[in-house]
Amino acid sequence: MENENTYTPFSNDLKVFISYASEDKELAMKLFSDLKKHNNITPWLDSESIIVGQNWKNMIINEIKNSSYFLALLSSSSITKNGFVQKELKIALDYLEEYSQNEIFIIPVRLDECDPTDERIKNIHWVDLFQSYQDGLNKILQAIQLKAHNDNYEQTSDQSFNICIGCIKNKGNSIVCKYCGYDENNTFYHPSHLKPRKILNKRYMIGKVIGQGAFGITYIGLDKVLLKKVAIKEYFPSTFGTRDFNRLTVTCYDGDAKNYYKKGLKSFIGESKLIAKFSKNPYIQRSR
Ligand SMILES: [Zn+2]
Repeated sequence: MENENTYTPFSNDLKVFISYASEDKELAMKLFSDLKKHNNITPWLDSESIIVGQNWKNMIINEIKNSSYFLALLSSSSITKNGFVQKELKIALDYLEEYSQNEIFIIPVRLDECDPTDERIKNIHWVDLFQSYQDGLNKILQAIQLKAHNDNYEQTSDQSFNICIGCIKNKGNSIVCKYCGYDENNTFYHPSHLKPRKILNKRYMIGKVIGQGAFGITYIGLDKVLLKKVAIKEYFPSTFGTRDFNRLTVTCYDGDAKNYYKKGLKSFIGESKLIAKFSKNPYIQRSR
């Protein structure tokens, strides 16, 4: 399941250089392993990536110049330190100025409430990791993936257009998917299901239905922010509810059905919260 979840439909390989002070090594390594879970991201951390015997200073300079992103982990330890972390940052900043293009992209990441001294860093949007690690990580991923997304889809106005709704892989321009054979133009869509390619919460794109029970419908979907395949579960009790013709609103029948509907919804939300707690899968629930 891990591979299913971390599969990304985009192939751009993004090198991310992680710069840190030795005091912050533990967090740097955590960030390294979390970024590594994404197929199109290759994080670079000196302790993980330098092969013994290599000239590490030259190697680091080359790595910085070859990176798509430079994550500067800033903490009270690193900003006061006159060590290599400052040199790395200076190389990255000089490089940015010298070329004045987005070949390298600095993301300052604060690990505590430190105040960066370099004026040039102050003008770049920060990400804070110390209040909520998960929120901070998501912001970093958003910044990284958004650029990959834009690079891939410069030519198309609808950025998800090439994504197959059968398997959430990038099928290119072809109508029939070369990976799963899904033929979008010759598939019948049940009127009680949500329309394929519908975007929920400006973030989740609905794909094909992968399961339906008495109380809900499960769709395959694309998380447009994290660029991951997800399962989207919708509360839809077919016995006492029906979908309006606009295919979004679910209404329930009158009388006793209303009570059953509400009761079911309550336990559905409870169940979803439980699933979200124990699973890495970003399930979402929608309900009316
Ligand atoms: Zn497909």
